[in-house]
Amino acid sequence: MPVDAALAEAWVREFAASVAAARDELTKLDQAIGDGDHGANLSRGLTAATDALSGDTPGDVLKLVGRTLISKVGGASGPLYGTAFREVAKGLGDAAAADDVTFAAALRGGLDGIVRLGRAEEGDKTMVDAWLPALAALDGALGSGSSLADAAGEAAKAAASGAEATIPMQARKGRASYLGPRSVGHQDPGATSSTMLFAALAKAAAA
Ligand code: ADP
Ligand code: MG
Repeated sequence: MPVDAALAEAWVREFAASVAAARDELTKLDQAIGDGDHGANLSRGLTAATDALSGDTPGDVLKLVGRTLISKVGGASGPLYGTAFREVAKGLGDAAAADDVTFAAALRGGLDGIVRLGRAEEGDKTMVDAWLPALAALDGALGSGSSLADAAGEAAKAAASGAEATIPMQARKGRASYLGPRSVGHQDPGATSSTMLFAALAKAAAA
């Protein structure tokens, strides 16, 4: 299924809706190993992004989402998610629609942006621990002929496992790293919201 502006908008709306619904859950997770603002921050930013949604191409839509998140969301996750969306947009260029493989490559560019900005590696207990397995699953499923909706469903499952796998990790990046060993035993909030990003893609692509 080609990713056009309508699908990009639907993806962002689904993500915003699921983060809004999980606001308290994300807040609780961030209260355990951070400052408790992840749910509220991200939800506020995504509300602003959905209010501003516009653009004739998926690249334009996602560029604006990225810019809005960077300007509206404080903390680490605003610039990180914002950069990710901007890099995905860059990967899509000016095309009216992207085929699935081009879109998957653009998502990989989004992760590269997160890593360039945050310098987190696998196992540091961050959103990277959800994105990495998600993109591997997405590529694998597309490679074996799955639809974008099914491949994104696989990505969401892999992201959820990746997020769960952050529980026993000790945080080495971000605010949670200040807790040292006390960060162990809690699921990372950003990895949790990133799972919602991939689940939202699956839902939007299936509609
Ligand atoms: P803050 O920590 O500034 O309050 P948020 O609570 O909004 O920001 O987001 C915290 C999340 O951001 C973490 O759960 C983690 O997933 C992610 N994060 C923090 N630092 C980094 C980093 N350097 N690289 C990747 N992700 C990070
Ligand atoms: Mg926080």
